[in-house]
Amino acid sequence: MKTKKINIIHNNTEKSLNITSLLKEKLEHQGFCITDSFSYDAFLNICVGGDGAFLRAIHNFDFTNIPFIGINTGTLGFFQEVSPENLDLLIQKIKNQDYKIEPIFLVEGIICTRTSCIELIAINEIVIKGYHSKTIHLNVSIDNNYLEKFSGDGVIVSTPIGSTAYNFSCGGSLVYPTLDVLQLTPIAPINSKAYRSLTSSIIVPNSLLIQIKPEYRDENSILIVVDGQEHKYENIVEISFKISSMKANILTLGNHSFWTNVKDKFL
Ligand code: NAP
Ligand code: MN
Repeated sequence: MKTKKINIIHNNTEKSLNITSLLKEKLEHQGFCITDSFSYDAFLNICVGGDGAFLRAIHNFDFTNIPFIGINTGTLGFFQEVSPENLDLLIQKIKNQDYKIEPIFLVEGIICTRTSCIELIAINEIVIKGYHSKTIHLNVSIDNNYLEKFSGDGVIVSTPIGSTAYNFSCGGSLVYPTLDVLQLTPIAPINSKAYRSLTSSIIVPNSLLIQIKPEYRDENSILIVVDGQEHKYENIVEISFKISSMKANILTLGNHSFWTNVKDKFL
């Protein structure tokens, strides 16, 4: 092991603060060095909180290569493999280097106005929504093949790991995390004599771009929601999505298969 440094990242609930100080004490007792501010030469990030805290930690540390493992003090904790009762097991496995590091796919959105483009990256999903809860109209193409004009509340572009999040609530499919695909899922698609939108989600392979051109009616603002964080943009001409060449790393203790997790957290 190169270094014995570990970053602990936590949210500020009473439970998280208590677990963090207990964990810090136990790790220091085993000879690990716990950093107070984020250190780029740590070998591990431990995130104490719920899924939101886990997502924010990866964003805040710029999709660092240092792997993340989570301790669940949140409500669902789909990402958080370790429960607060299992701190000793976690420490023992870290000490014995008895773990695997699994890269996860991220979605990249390139947002272009007439004058410039910016890049956004997400772990779960990027959502396109109307501003002020307006109906949104989107021309959707897959790799330059025009598919449909979507009208409704919006669309979700989900990663495999995000397929159990917002995507799932909108009727999207669960996708095994090692599949390199993106899923485009409609939110409240309108189907009437006025508008016709696909009602099911579509799954797009890694090599193909998902391209979206908004059609503006009485509002030219759009909301882009990146892992739950809202951004407002005006006069977007096109948004294109693909799987990012960057990845995030998740450290797993190996007793947390995707299917067990789905059964435990959803059924
Ligand atoms: P939040 O409102 O607390 O998230 C909603 C729920 O989604 C929470 O129970 C959260 O777990 C869970 N969650 C997050 N990522 C997940 C994943 N990959 N698989 C399964 N469940 C997951 O907000 P947040 O904690 O900041 O999380 C942001 C995420 O919330 C967004 O990326 C989006 O996917 C999701 N969201 C869902 C809906 C919906 O389902 N209608 C609406 C908006 C946002 P914790 O309880 O452990 O935090
Ligand atoms: Mn949450």
